[in-house]
Parts: sequence; structure tokens; C-alpha cells
Amino acid sequence: MTNKKELLKNLPKIDVLLEVDEINFKENVSRVIVKEAVRETIDLYRKAILEDKVEEYSLKEIIEDINILIDKKSSGNLKRVINATGTILHTNLGRAVLSKSATDAVVKVTSRFNNLEFDLEKGERGSRYTHVENLICKITGAEAALVVNNNAAAVMLALSSICKDKEAIVSRGQLVEVGGSFRIPSIMELSGAKLVEVGTTNRTHIYDYENAITEETGCILKVHKSNYKVLGFTEEISLEDFRDISKKTGIPIIEDIGSGIFIDISKYGVAYEPTVQASIKKGIDIVTFSGDKMLGGPQAGIIVGKKQFIDNMKKNQLTRAIRVDKMTLAALEATFRVYLDEELALKEIPLLNMLTRKIDVIKADATRLAKAIRKKVGDRAEVKVKKDLSQIGGGSMPLETLDTYVIAIDSKTKSPNKIEKELRDGNIPIVIRIYKNEIIIDVRTLFKEDYKIISDRLSNII
Ligand SMILES: *Cc1c(COP(=O)(O)O)cnc(C)c1O
Repeated sequence: MTNKKELLKNLPKIDVLLEVDEINFKENVSRVIVKEAVRETIDLYRKAILEDKVEEYSLKEIIEDINILIDKKSSGNLKRVINATGTILHTNLGRAVLSKSATDAVVKVTSRFNNLEFDLEKGERGSRYTHVENLICKITGAEAALVVNNNAAAVMLALSSICKDKEAIVSRGQLVEVGGSFRIPSIMELSGAKLVEVGTTNRTHIYDYENAITEETGCILKVHKSNYKVLGFTEEISLEDFRDISKKTGIPIIEDIGSGIFIDISKYGVAYEPTVQASIKKGIDIVTFSGDKMLGGPQAGIIVGKKQFIDNMKKNQLTRAIRVDKMTLAALEATFRVYLDEELALKEIPLLNMLTRKIDVIKADATRLAKAIRKKVGDRAEVKVKKDLSQIGGGSMPLETLDTYVIAIDSKTKSPNKIEKELRDGNIPIVIRIYKNEIIIDVRTLFKEDYKIISDRLSNII
């Protein structure tokens, strides 16, 4: 009993702690947070002493705990996490990770004034859209390009500019819903286009489109089935067929290609995903896609195609409401620049790098991490390297998986659910999978600096 009183009495005073150098001198941390952390830590100690959970403490321990809490409080809500799921485009984990050149560009452009809407040659007002348009055209082969907030906005703008109060013909097999409740029929309604459904869920023919064309038709919309597949007795018409219908009738074709990709990844052993260039080359009038899916850039909706249509979109009032900001433009320009050199893109753009990483490299990485974890957790867990499959994710290529190697951990000290929860906690949360009572860590989506963080954390937790 006396000991408890003694312990309480000897707890350092808040004023005294606030003068301790290790707590006092923190760069970029507000005093409010420091005071809060000191007070809350002392309160926790007091409570623990009263509940007989603490029988001794040192000033050093208390200072350490205060600093951990300060770090936690100042780290923000939106923060970096380690993605050990192997899903490359994880919609919940921020989709594509930006390349270093993209993040560098964001910092450089936005931490000072910039020429967002200033024409440096003429010394007069310029347009924010010119910074990326030529570059996009050069890469995709399109006549013109426009960038908006995201692909949902891009589809809406394209329909609103080309097909407002007119009919837009879509196959019943392509009335997609994408995560976050983006539904093609709803977007069409918002844009003012009238939806005309043709064909059936599994089969739509050239004549289905042709028979639906009337005086009221404004466009034909083709939607890429990003996140599902119809298997078996199916038919969809080809890009060439769409172009031929357009040539014959003068009706423009809008294609929502979803996850825009510039590189034919089938060369690297991944299934073919339609490229933006292929659609432009085939003569599709307007193609829209996301910036932060397979492109590996920032969130954006990119519209490419024939100049006459894009010029109309630029004049549409809607464009102002869905315009992109300077951070996006800086990141996007830097991302596109990397694409001018395919080899560089595969190396520099994290998404492409993870997607095309060679299996023996992955195996070596997994073996190395397993060894580091074993060294840390000793016989408290069994740590194995196993063959497994990674997903691409982000509503892209739903049936495609990639061969990978994972680390499977069977803990003798804690349940997998408990470990999973504790890994999610902390300054740099680690997101993993659980499979058959084991913790699964897929190295495909890890960065070099993650390895030590993971083995250290597992060592603490297990
Ligand atoms: C992902 C996707 C969208 C939505 O794109 P956002 O950039 O998330 O707005 C639209 N259409 C298709 C086919 C998609 O795959």
C-alpha cells in the first residue's frame, strides 16, 4: 500500500517534464500536442499504479512513452502504410503509389509560386491544361487531350459535351458498376444523355448497335469491363467494328477504357490489358481513363481523342467544376515524362515495377525477409517461405493473378487476428492477409525500407 502511495507521489510533475530536453525540443510539433501527450501519459501511469498494473517505473521509461505518444499524435490521420497484401492497386490503400519523380515534382511546384495559369513566353494569362496536353498526345498518338478530376468525371464530361439530350447507345453487357458506386447508367443520367441499352448481358452484335441508331442518337459508348468478366457463350464487337459503324453513320464512339495503360504488359508475362494507344490507332473518337490505376499516377481522369470534341469539352461549364489542381498536374506531368522511355517507366513507376517483377527476385526478397524475421522471433513462431498468388486489384484485371512468394507466419504466442490488429496499429501501420490461421506477408508490394520495419514490429508483437 505504501509502495503505491510512494509511486504516485514520485511521478514526475508535468511542468518538470515539459522542461526535459528530449520532450521540449521537437521540431514541427505544436506545444498543444506535447502538453497533451505529457498529461495523458502521466494519467495512464497513475491509473496503472492504482490498478496494481505498475510496480516500478523510471523517468527514462516515462519520457520514452511520452515521445511515442507525441509521434503518434503528430503523425496525422492520413498516413503512409505498408502494403503487405500483394495487391498492387489496392483501392483502400490509395491505389497507385507515385514515382519519385512525381512526388519530387509536387513538392517543387507547389511549395513555391508556379506558372499554373501563366504563359511564360507571352507574359500573359495561360491555361492550366497546356502543361500536359502535348505530352499526353505524344505518348498516346491522340490529336488532343484534357485532364479532369477522375475518370467518373471524364465520362460525364464526354457524354455531356457530345451527347446531352441525345441518345447514347450502350451494350447491356457493359453497364458496369465500379467500386465506390460509380454506375455507368447513373453517370449517363447525370450527364444529360439518354441511355439506350442494346444486346443482352452476354452477347451484343454489330446489328444490335446499328438497329438502335436513330435521328436522336448522339454517341455509342463502349465501356471496359474492368472488374468482372462474362465467360462462356459471349460476344462483344471489336474496336474495328465500332470504328466501321462510326464511319458509316457519323456517330462518334466514346470509350471508357477504365484503367488506362500505355505499355503492352503482355510482353512481360502479364495478361494483355487494352492500351490507350491501340484505341486511338483504331480511330476511336474519345477515350477516357483513370490516372491512378494501371497508369501509376495521381488521381485524375484523362480524356484523349479528336480535337473537335475535346475543344467542345474545354468550353463546357462542367469542366470548371471538375478541374484538376496544381498538385495533380505536377505529378501527372512527371509521370507522363517517365513514359517517354518504356524501360525507365518499368523501373521508376512503382506499379509497373511491382507488376513486372521477376519471380526469382521475389523469391530472393521473401527468403531474405523470412530470415530476418526468424532471427527476431526465434522459436516464438514458425516462419516459412511459400509460393502464392498476388492480385492486381483496383478493379482491374479481375481474373488475373501473378505468381509470387510470401512469408507465412504461425505464431505460438498470439492469435493471427490479434497480430493483424496490432500490425495495423502504430505510426506506420502494416496491412497483411490472414490465410488458414497464418499471417501472410507478400513481398511483391513491399519497398526496401519496409523490411526492417516489418521484422522489428513482428519481433515486438510476437
Ligand atoms: C475505375 C473505373 C471508372 C472510375 O474511375 P475513377 O478514376 O475512379 O473515377 C470508370 N469506368 C471504368 C470502366 C473503371 O474501371
